[in-house]
Amino acid sequence: MDIEQAKHTLDSGGLVAIPTETVYGLAANATDADAVTRIFSVKNRPFFDPLILHTPSLDMMETYSQSGLPPLAMQLAERFMPGPLTFVLPKADSVPDIVTSGMESVAMRIPNHPMTLDLLRSLDYPLAAPSANPFGYVSPTSAAHVRQQLGGAIDGIIDGGPCAVGLESTIVSFLEMQPLVLRLGGTPLEAIEDCLHMKLKRQTSSSQPKAPGQLSSHYSPGRVVIPHPHGCDWQAIDWNLTTDDAISWLPQSNASQSFTQSGDDREGAQSLFHLLRSVDNGKTGPVHVELAPDKGLGKAINDRIKRSAHQA
Ligand code: AMP
Ligand code: MG
Repeated sequence: MDIEQAKHTLDSGGLVAIPTETVYGLAANATDADAVTRIFSVKNRPFFDPLILHTPSLDMMETYSQSGLPPLAMQLAERFMPGPLTFVLPKADSVPDIVTSGMESVAMRIPNHPMTLDLLRSLDYPLAAPSANPFGYVSPTSAAHVRQQLGGAIDGIIDGGPCAVGLESTIVSFLEMQPLVLRLGGTPLEAIEDCLHMKLKRQTSSSQPKAPGQLSSHYSPGRVVIPHPHGCDWQAIDWNLTTDDAISWLPQSNASQSFTQSGDDREGAQSLFHLLRSVDNGKTGPVHVELAPDKGLGKAINDRIKRSAHQA
């Protein structure tokens, strides 16, 4: 659907899949608790997993936070927004509890996609939008991915082409004095640390309440995924072409697909979810996957691969 149809649908409480630079989102009017409740039921997403608000501007972000953006957040916003970076801030009363799983904080970002920015500018409310896939499955990076799984259950899809980044946003919490990284994602940690001239604390444990929804098991293509260290010896990996799959980082004679041609981490991020989906192909053996180098976007790519490998 086009932007005008999407606005009309969202204004009347509908659900629209929207393109962003990270992954496709399943969007509803964030101030309409009934519409947001439908997001959870369509995705089969547990209510304890809060949603990210998408706004067109820092001004609107300030409106939905209790006391605006702290100076360090402002510094990051100037450099990285719009872009794959999300802030967690104390929430304004106008944000419904269903969006934040009842917490007093809210996650917000400005997505960097021209169609979705146009849409957001035409609305007088923010959009709540998790990834447009059934809960626990691989995130969608094209309109076709969304159509295949949720097409019949939602009110429309804006086709904005393949996602330019292909990984969800990096999440930074500003609830305490020191910023805390809750999730690795499309803005590399090193770039954030460079911008702030400081090292950031990272929350890694999935059991801690500050990063609800960061479950160890996620992004599952419905097969057993076996991660191998970056630079592993592919000739030594014994896999069966008829039952298994094998995805290397760089092209290898003993792997069926590779995340990159050149080793570039941005290329790896763009192909990650597409390749993880491609192995949901009816075979029943394991999927051998080589991890990325542990730097830049590779850190977030490895986080996603490890979670796709985690058995619930
Ligand atoms: P996504 O999976 O991209 O929809 O992002 C949603 C994730 O953002 C959730 O799973 C949480 O990990 C995180 N999140 C959203 N709201 C909050 C919040 N208020 N506090 C901490 N983390 C949050
Ligand atoms: Mg998701």
